[in-house]
Amino acid sequence: MKASAFSYARATSVVNALELLVAHGDKAKVLSGGQSLMPAMNLRLISPELIVDIGELSELRGIAVKGDVLTIGALTRHVDLLRSPEIAAHAPLLTEAIAHVAHPAIRNKGTIGGSLAHADPASELPACMLALNATIIVRGQSGERRIAAVDFFRGIYETALSAHELLMSVELPVARKNSAHFFLEFARRHGDYAIAGLATQAIVAGGSFTDLRLAFFAVGDRPVLAGAANKLVNVAMTPAVFSEASMVLGKELDPQDDQQASASMRRHLAKVLLARCVSALLGRPGLHAGGIA
Ligand SMILES: Cc1cc2nc3c(=O)[nH]c(=O)nc-3n(C[C@H](O)[C@H](O)[C@H](O)COP(=O)(O)OP(=O)(O)OC[C@H]3O[C@@H](n4cnc5c(N)ncnc54)[C@H](O)[C@@H]3O)c2cc1C
Repeated sequence: MKASAFSYARATSVVNALELLVAHGDKAKVLSGGQSLMPAMNLRLISPELIVDIGELSELRGIAVKGDVLTIGALTRHVDLLRSPEIAAHAPLLTEAIAHVAHPAIRNKGTIGGSLAHADPASELPACMLALNATIIVRGQSGERRIAAVDFFRGIYETALSAHELLMSVELPVARKNSAHFFLEFARRHGDYAIAGLATQAIVAGGSFTDLRLAFFAVGDRPVLAGAANKLVNVAMTPAVFSEASMVLGKELDPQDDQQASASMRRHLAKVLLARCVSALLGRPGLHAGGIA
């Protein structure tokens, strides 16, 4: 199938892109890498009347570190993140996660802004934004809004962005001393969307977590910053502590049933991910989904 007929405009500036979005309202769609938009149009899941191509807006591209803030422009491609020494040094969780996003041909075109605006609950990058405590910067004609990642994702393909706004960039705090990260997903094949996944950023001191951000994906209608982490912070890891956290996690998640996995399978996989994460970060190989061996 091919997309319905549509008009195309190449934005010449951010101001011009915003003018076009305001003029056409929800009949317009922003085009970045096109790796999610074009398949959705070709399947006629969406039929925008106007495509606003922002691909030439170089001010939306790039990675910069200033003080303890890492800024990534919305048009920065997945491949740029994968190869960036700044990302590897200051947000290594992203370097690890991005290798699981699709395949090289898609990573060569797809952008971080497109991935976050698309908000597929099985996507890796939205969960990383939660784990890394990112701020997402959006701009409309009335100015800029700074939105905490945890408030940005609102549901399946739903975000806090309005049809009149552009996602401009994301800001991440650079990795602190003693920080550690963990990324793992279960997918049928490498590069497929995950069946269940976990992106984690932590601070480890003296064999315990002093900070722990567990962001699960593909186990709900949006990425989930798990409250179970609170059970694992500033405590010595014992079988009872871990089992309690695993039980809390099982209760707080509300996964979906689909052709890939049942809800109970996803809940189980999330507990396996939690066990592997805590094992890896605290060097405790005995942990498993049900507790500690
Ligand atoms: C076969 C295949 C496998 C894939 N596998 C994965 C995977 O495993 N994991 C994964 O995370 N992704 C996967 N993807 C999606 C891929 O990562 C996309 O590149 C990404 O989701 C969207 O980025 P894009 O730049 O291509 O956005 P586009 O397709 O251009 O846009 C996506 C949506 O975001 C909006 N948008 C884009 N940029 C902005 C902006 N700056 N401001 C406001 N709105 C904006 C668009 O209007 C559109 O609604 C896969 C895609 C394909 C085709």
